Amino acid sequence: MATNAKSTRSKTNKIETIHNAEDFLLTQLPIPQALRNHLTFSLGKSDSWATTRDWYQTAAFTVRDHLMSRWVITRDAYRDANTKRVYYLSLEFLIGRMLSNAALNLGVAPELSDGLQEIGQQLEGVAEMEPDAALGNGGLGRLAACFVDSMATMDIPATGYGIRYDYGMFRQSIEGGQQVENPDNWLRYQNIWEVQRPEHTCEVKFYGRVVQVHTERGTERHWIDTESVVAMPYDVPVPGYGTQTVNNLRLWSAKAAKEFDLASFNQGNYDKSVEGRHGAETISQVLYPNDASESGKELRLKQQYFFVSASTQDILHRFITYNPDWDTLPQKIAIQLNDTHPAIAVAEMMYQLVDHYHLAWDRAWKLVTQIFAYTNHTLMPEALETWSVDLFSSLLPRHLEIIYEINHRFLQMVNQHFPGDSGLLSRVSIIDETHGRRVRMAHLAVVGSHTVNGVAALHSELLRTTLFADFNKIYPGKFTNVTNGITPRRWLNQANPLLTELLTKHIGSGFQKDLGLIQKIEPLAEDAAFRKAFREVKAANKQRLAYKILQKTGVAINPHAIFDVQIKRIHEYKRQLLNVLHVITLYNRIRSGQAKNQTPRVVIFAGKAAPGYWLAKQIIRLINDVATLINNDPVVGDQLKVVFYPNYEVSAAEILFPGADLSEQISTAGTEASGTGNMKMALNGALTIGTLDGANVEIKEEVGDENIFIFGLTTPEVAQIKASGYNPWDYYNGNPELKQVIDMIGNGFFSVGEPNRYQAIVDTLLHKGDHYLLLADYAAYVEAQEKVAALYQDEEAWSRVAILNVARMAKFSSDRTIGEYANRIWKVEQFKA
Ligand SMILES: *Cc1c(COP(=O)(O)O)cnc(C)c1O
Repeated sequence: MATNAKSTRSKTNKIETIHNAEDFLLTQLPIPQALRNHLTFSLGKSDSWATTRDWYQTAAFTVRDHLMSRWVITRDAYRDANTKRVYYLSLEFLIGRMLSNAALNLGVAPELSDGLQEIGQQLEGVAEMEPDAALGNGGLGRLAACFVDSMATMDIPATGYGIRYDYGMFRQSIEGGQQVENPDNWLRYQNIWEVQRPEHTCEVKFYGRVVQVHTERGTERHWIDTESVVAMPYDVPVPGYGTQTVNNLRLWSAKAAKEFDLASFNQGNYDKSVEGRHGAETISQVLYPNDASESGKELRLKQQYFFVSASTQDILHRFITYNPDWDTLPQKIAIQLNDTHPAIAVAEMMYQLVDHYHLAWDRAWKLVTQIFAYTNHTLMPEALETWSVDLFSSLLPRHLEIIYEINHRFLQMVNQHFPGDSGLLSRVSIIDETHGRRVRMAHLAVVGSHTVNGVAALHSELLRTTLFADFNKIYPGKFTNVTNGITPRRWLNQANPLLTELLTKHIGSGFQKDLGLIQKIEPLAEDAAFRKAFREVKAANKQRLAYKILQKTGVAINPHAIFDVQIKRIHEYKRQLLNVLHVITLYNRIRSGQAKNQTPRVVIFAGKAAPGYWLAKQIIRLINDVATLINNDPVVGDQLKVVFYPNYEVSAAEILFPGADLSEQISTAGTEASGTGNMKMALNGALTIGTLDGANVEIKEEVGDENIFIFGLTTPEVAQIKASGYNPWDYYNGNPELKQVIDMIGNGFFSVGEPNRYQAIVDTLLHKGDHYLLLADYAAYVEAQEKVAALYQDEEAWSRVAILNVARMAKFSSDRTIGEYANRIWKVEQFKA
């Protein structure tokens, strides 16, 4: 513990800070007493008036007390040791609820639970009053949240930087079978997990123009006549598990630079006097709800630059306060770009170093390229961000100049190594000249970074051979792989307390922090008593899920049926529609009497569609129409049920993953970069039915071919079938069951009042080329599902495989992932405060 945390920097601090963890901990009351104190002194209530929300706030204040001292100590210790730090820049952090997670990581969960019990409250019910922090869309944002948990747990000196959106991911409700988007006003009640830090406010500039100025340093470019926005930081503590480390997540909120103009207001110009505020403050108002990028929207570029500029200023200010020499910058900071969303940081860092701190270009560029690393999350062309040069030159004219200069020097270098290859130059240029002039953010990120990683082995290989093949030739060795992971704290211990208890009984605790230990349960797959206990855990988690489903949808499900679960963003490439084709196939088999004594099945979907993605919303509607018909058909009964679980978010995921028997990971091979839902499912004892895509490939390597249901075309086969002229009609005409299913969708079997409701879905499959090859994979998928159903009949065999899946998930801890980033990319050491 940090008995050496006594500040050595008393010269710069007016008050000498003398503190260590013990001093703080001594001041902490036992939890039952602390709860009562906070109810009185923080909420001003007596328990006779206290609502469940009051108890949540009381519990949050109480747990927060345990964080604060460690947070202070960690921050001071990093400063005093002047350690190298990692900065994780992400436009999204999909955190979820914090109370139970903080209590778990700090080791006070049992006490908190008991303390609440004494007052007549249940931790579960109290925790449910906390709104999710849903500052992200899906996997990319959740990865950032798992990473900050792992970095704190592994004592990596790290800060996350992002945006404090006033409104997070929209809340989805289902009305008449259709998705309805509702605003996520998550800050309506006080947010106990943030602290405003007005002393670290920054100014972020937009618009204006660039002029040439002669100074004593020589000729300079000055960005003038700009419009300013104030960036106000809110800090969120990130406690590690089983360590004193509490790292920081700094989220920026936009504020108008000019205070409310009272003079103007008094003259009756009400609108004018608040205009500045509105313009500025919209920047951090709402998260863009598109899972792929929102390229082209001015506000989106503003959001990106806003948080990148504030973060860069903050990082450099911190650096130069404690380090005299700019050349040591790469020894002290590493910055990870989570996708291209923060890629403008490459230009911003040049802007700050050259224009603000007056470093020479070459010296600054050398530093920049030793600091940045970039993670690519997708190969899909529509998700690769580009911005029009016109928009750039209006919003960030100086940065456009800087990007031109970076590009000029880069293309000169390429031309030296590959003389005369003009095709190569135009392909790798940061400026795309082929359809209007546009800035390619992925190219800026690659050129400005020392390392570029994909998120699973297959994806990284595809980056090297397809999307970035040219860059791989220019920069051999720049491209690497770091396979994604998930935090076992939230996704095992917190989400699945019963499995955690069972595992602890047999292998002790410790697997939460060293998931490698989980392989110790492997021999227990052969132990009948353990298998029985394991099944009881799964059954209880299925009961818990069934109850939630009944509450949310009114559908009663048979907990003995196989729970077949596909939960993720709704997107064509993820192929929820292929799952629907299988569901209808099962329905037809039941109706025609071919499926007597079939394994009863509950097919559970959850996920949000981007509000502007009409076809994805049609898929949601189709799922609900199919569900209504099947669930109310007396011939079907308990043999088949279909559920659409509304408003998929982290807190919903924590109930859904532990309740799953079967994990649907059925994207078209080559389209899912990694997936992390696949890992959460297997860690909670679900078997995977999946394609050889993303991290499924590595899950198969870990669990063994015989413990996973792999089907469908491989990535090379996908390329080949497309090259040789794929014709979905061949599959339609060649498979009567498939034809029947598609005809039913097309002729209004599920939408009697509106027979052509799903014409567009049929069109994508038959008339528009079936881009994601659902028809080509249909037969293999149905066959794999038959194997699933057969294995499920043998509960001992099924449990054996499920246990092996859990036992072999060690690789997919985000601690392993972060360890690789730290060693191979960031070159940062662990540091215990
Ligand atoms: C894990 C997770 C995701 C990512 O799921 P994939 O199946 O990898 O797409 C998305 N949203 C939430 C809430 C998650 O927990």
